[in-house]
Amino acid sequence: MNYRRLGKSGLKLSELSFGSWVTFSSQMDESAAAECMKTAYDAGVNFFDNAEVYASGKSEEIMGNVLKKVKWPRDTYCVSSKVFWGGEKPTQRGLHTKHITDACHAALRRLQVDYLDLYFCHRPDRQTPIEETVRAMDNLVQQGKILYWGTSEWSADEIRAAYGLARQYNLMPPTMEQPQYNLFHREKVEWEYLRLFQDEGLGTTIWSPLASGVLTNKYKDGIPKESRMTLEEYDFLKRRHESPQGQDCVEKTRRLTEFSKELGISIIHLSLAWCLKNPDVSTVILGASSVDQLKENLKAADVVEKLTSDVMERIDEIVQSKPKAWIDW
Ligand code: NDP
Repeated sequence: MNYRRLGKSGLKLSELSFGSWVTFSSQMDESAAAECMKTAYDAGVNFFDNAEVYASGKSEEIMGNVLKKVKWPRDTYCVSSKVFWGGEKPTQRGLHTKHITDACHAALRRLQVDYLDLYFCHRPDRQTPIEETVRAMDNLVQQGKILYWGTSEWSADEIRAAYGLARQYNLMPPTMEQPQYNLFHREKVEWEYLRLFQDEGLGTTIWSPLASGVLTNKYKDGIPKESRMTLEEYDFLKRRHESPQGQDCVEKTRRLTEFSKELGISIIHLSLAWCLKNPDVSTVILGASSVDQLKENLKAADVVEKLTSDVMERIDEIVQSKPKAWIDW
């Protein structure tokens, strides 16, 4: 396992990490989750990603029970939570001081840890001043309840505002952002955030590296049984998949799969290794609904060297997803 600095911070995360969205509780019980977490940890993974909203808190409970049972030394792994969607009441959602504080305490209880290594603002809250959010996060840092805080799917302007406020009032700035990044979704990481990487040393923990499973090529003949897109609660993924854009992704994956065969690697490894090629990515958060999937995905780093610049160009030709601003450049 290779380790990368989380942006300009000194914290080194495994370049492949493991997350629990959709899977923990809906597809995996505690024993399957434990098997996956142990497999990841034994392979060198040191970051486990979670959020208050995942399975309405059950995902964190499962992870917390596993962490308690495996008894890994607390200084050998990092665990995260994310705050935003905690419930239906106005006090239970958003990024105001009350919800940030309540949600942190609740996540600590569910995960059964004394502090969170990484704590994310799961989306921007345009009804709360960014200054209030930065102050609330800084408070939790000062109290030792979180070590690093960051954002997820904020705009570059919002993140830059957070840096500015932190500087102005001598508060802890954000360290990392959690954006979607995969072969079909590149704009934020490859264009919008560029100055933040250069000027602020922003780290990234990227999500959905396989576009929810589409980049495995298993959707080529329709939606496979027991896959994520058959789950009722995630109907929005199925609708997106069935749209013309979704079907275009399936077709591009089919062509990419043919190309990956020429290279002698799997489409799964090609897609994950492609994310790892980007030096602005601190860690690629893997998702898996079984331990076999996870074992397969953990081997992706072995093929990074096969993605030469010629190969990367060929991939761009097939997928046609390079941010438009770069093409116009
Ligand atoms: P992926 O895009 O990699 O999708 C993972 C899913 O793809 C698996 O659960 C499985 O679904 C399928 N899959 C993965 N590997 C294989 C394989 N080898 N063979 C066949 N199918 C496979 O990642 P996720 O979307 O799960 O995102 C990863 C993590 O990122 C999450 O767990 C979460 O921690 C984080 N995240 C953060 C978000 C945010 O807003 N900050 C949003 C979303 C995710 P199945 O078997 O059901 O088909």
